[in-house]
Amino acid sequence: MPAAKHPNAAELLGKSREELRAFAQSLEEPAFRGAQLYHALYAERKFDFAEMTNLPAALRECLAREARITLPEIARRYRSGDATVRYVLRLAGMGTMDKKAKAPERPATIETVFMPEEKRQTICISTQAGCAVDCRFCLTATLGLMRNLTAGEILGQVLVALADNRHALKPQTNIVLMGQGEPLLNYDAVMGALRILLDAEAIGISPKRATLSTSGIVPGIERLAQEKVRPKLAISLNASSDAQRNEVMPINRKYPLEKLLAACRKYPLRPWEKLTFEYVLLGGFNDAPEDARRVARLVNGLRAKVNLIPWNPGDLPYEKPDPARIEEFRRILTYKGVPAFVRYSRGQDVMAACGQLALLEAAAKQPLAQISPAS
Ligand code: SF4
Repeated sequence: MPAAKHPNAAELLGKSREELRAFAQSLEEPAFRGAQLYHALYAERKFDFAEMTNLPAALRECLAREARITLPEIARRYRSGDATVRYVLRLAGMGTMDKKAKAPERPATIETVFMPEEKRQTICISTQAGCAVDCRFCLTATLGLMRNLTAGEILGQVLVALADNRHALKPQTNIVLMGQGEPLLNYDAVMGALRILLDAEAIGISPKRATLSTSGIVPGIERLAQEKVRPKLAISLNASSDAQRNEVMPINRKYPLEKLLAACRKYPLRPWEKLTFEYVLLGGFNDAPEDARRVARLVNGLRAKVNLIPWNPGDLPYEKPDPARIEEFRRILTYKGVPAFVRYSRGQDVMAACGQLALLEAAAKQPLAQISPAS
């Protein structure tokens, strides 16, 4: 019979090697047992203590009583015609502690997206439940911030998506921190998760294959610049002037374009690295040729590329951009020496915009007719 779990059993998912070493010592075990636990949990991806055969049996039994490993739970799973899988994940909120709030984390639901391609898969993960940043084109913003995710809840999304698709995995995995939330407003948990995700001795994703997308939190960008291990940086630009950006991204009043681009110019790019600017093309709002020329001036001199994302009409009052204007925008940027690419969001038939699924969950509605739950 499995051992009864201690009511205050420690949550281990998200703990660093050092934290696991300290945890092993708190159980009166040598510190190296913590490093073995780190290997079993993240490199071997064993989530049941009984399977951690690199640990002595007595320690496995002790862990079964004193510790827990809580992965996010798949609440709903939607498969799109282009093979994208969108997950609504339920976070138990048990056994994790927000140090600032000094209270147990509340349960929450978030979204994670798994996008298979020919030679790789890309997993888009959330860093907060809801978001406080209030970008006007984003449905997540309408949820407000419910809470920060812990490091374990952030990296747990990758583990769940990989496990759920284990029979069809490609050799490479990309991760993008572009789901719900502003990663740089949950800095410590995001970096805690990334240090484990990008550790070759843990989950082992290459830093070249991880991208953090920010709405432009300048102090966070400056802090990220100091990190030894860090993902690539993407800036959600979406406007060609302060007046325009203030309208769609009120965060711009706090960190206007001049400050944001100054932080980008100081950002220490590695030899292989480029900054990415994401630009959602909102028909009739920011997709004019003059906007393209202003964007080219803004990013002038930066080692950067621009991803143009045509607005996908949904519940918000923006128009789909005209295909000829999209192409003209791209052509102007390219002509001005700025590499520019048009990216269409995937999984459009299963609620493309971030926040759409969570909004449905929050409203406790049944999935719409065009959504076909895969399980
Ligand atoms: S786009 Fe990102 S930062 Fe802006 S409100 Fe949505 S989740 Fe938050």
